[in-house]
Amino acid sequence: MTSPQDTPLVRGGRGRLRAETLRDLVQVADTPLGRGVFARRKLVAGRVLGEIVGDVLAVEPDDPSYCMELPSGRVLEPAAPLRFLNHSCEPNCELFYWEEEGALQEDRLWLQTIRTIKPGEELLIDYSWPATAAIPCRCGTAACRGWIVDPEELHLLPPPASAGDGPPSPPSRS
Ligand SMILES: [Zn+2]
Repeated sequence: MTSPQDTPLVRGGRGRLRAETLRDLVQVADTPLGRGVFARRKLVAGRVLGEIVGDVLAVEPDDPSYCMELPSGRVLEPAAPLRFLNHSCEPNCELFYWEEEGALQEDRLWLQTIRTIKPGEELLIDYSWPATAAIPCRCGTAACRGWIVDPEELHLLPPPASAGDGPPSPPSRS
């Protein structure tokens, strides 16, 4: 049985086995909207990339933008590089909890790929924020909900403003 502490082993340069770390797999780089996390190499679907390490806090810090909610009610403020994971309504990665002997490891979050990711592609997760924390989404995917929000709470929000660059269309006259 695999435990989350087991780092995947790969063949090193001289035939030796070496542990492949998260930093071998991803790097932080600039995007038009700040920093993001990008694949250094091809990542297959279902690949566990690593634990989201960071500070587990009882209450949200002043700037909760990077925080992830935990089932215990606490929040996880991730450290780099996974602090810079951006949102998409059509993500290629997801967060998950590990169960050990039937017990959820409540304060630990892990990241895995949902589909194959090409070298240089940005890693994206669905933030699924509660409606009270939602902000307009500009991910630009066909599945975009218009808001960065949990799909189950989308109905609590007004229709998103037009993402077009032009002025709003005038009301139609009859
Ligand atoms: Zn979107």
